[in-house]
Amino acid sequence: MALLDRIPGVENLYIGGLFVLRRKVALKEANITHVLSVLRLPLDERLFSGFEHMVVEVDDVDDENLLEHFPATNRFIQNGLNSGGGVLVHCAMGKSRSATCVIAYLMQKHHISPSEALLQIRQARPLCEPNEGFMSQLEIFHETRTPDNVEDDPAYQRWLYRREIELGRACGQAPEADKIRFEDEHANGSAAVDFDIRCRKCRRPLATSQYLIPHAPKQVEEHGPISSSTATKATCAHYFVDPLSWMRPELEQGKLDGRLECPKCRTNVGKYAWQGMQCSCGDWVVPGISLAKGRIDEVKSRTSGGLGGAGIRLPPASATRCSGQENL
Ligand SMILES: [Zn+2]
Ligand SMILES: [Zn+2]
Repeated sequence: MALLDRIPGVENLYIGGLFVLRRKVALKEANITHVLSVLRLPLDERLFSGFEHMVVEVDDVDDENLLEHFPATNRFIQNGLNSGGGVLVHCAMGKSRSATCVIAYLMQKHHISPSEALLQIRQARPLCEPNEGFMSQLEIFHETRTPDNVEDDPAYQRWLYRREIELGRACGQAPEADKIRFEDEHANGSAAVDFDIRCRKCRRPLATSQYLIPHAPKQVEEHGPISSSTATKATCAHYFVDPLSWMRPELEQGKLDGRLECPKCRTNVGKYAWQGMQCSCGDWVVPGISLAKGRIDEVKSRTSGGLGGAGIRLPPASATRCSGQENL
């Protein structure tokens, strides 16, 4: 390990800590023309005279959003390399933040996973180790196939929403209204819908199976991944769901928890708790947005494609009968 280490597999890309900036000779020997600073410090501008310079102001903590900067930092690195010069990516230690940005670049350039990219960097600089939060952001970047505008990607938006929930939990607050992701407002229409969930009293559609949050009691979990359809065991008195647009008036109030009323008949159909909620099966779900099974009916979806013949689906008549019985 040197003051600055060349990334194996990429000509002219270097990683280092803060100190290297004062080593003019080393920078000159490496033909550095572009410097990407990934840190939140007052930097002496004179250190960067003569370089193309980009600053991404983040701290080395798990919940910093470095992900939103990857497309721009990747472009900066690529432009520097294209210009024929050398690119230095640095943070304070050359360990976490700078390594994260270099990994994001290698992923996009070589179509490799975050851990493969990390191994590649560590050949030159063994101390490189993005913090846990940055590693999971790199996983999201991988999952979204390293897009040029990550903001538009649903996986990114869901991550942003989850992050808001976690930040809120840490300080005992509800998420800000404009940060809540109402999943049905982003539906792409291609998701498989097994069944609809309707208000038992007035039949108003409340959710479809695609918005269920899978969860399961611990002993079931050990037998493998739980799909949303098997996560609704008889022991569970609730369905957990994503925020849905009919919940807007309630969820946007900024309360930590509350009740959910059917928007049509005002019957209490569920409840929510941003901090999380324990299902009757024992599992905790965060955030907990639940519909009580005793207040809703499941209706086989007519658009269901995966379940075979029409005989499996409940005809509308029988669905009506179910709700009729409930009124007795
Ligand atoms: Zn449960
Ligand atoms: Zn209703």
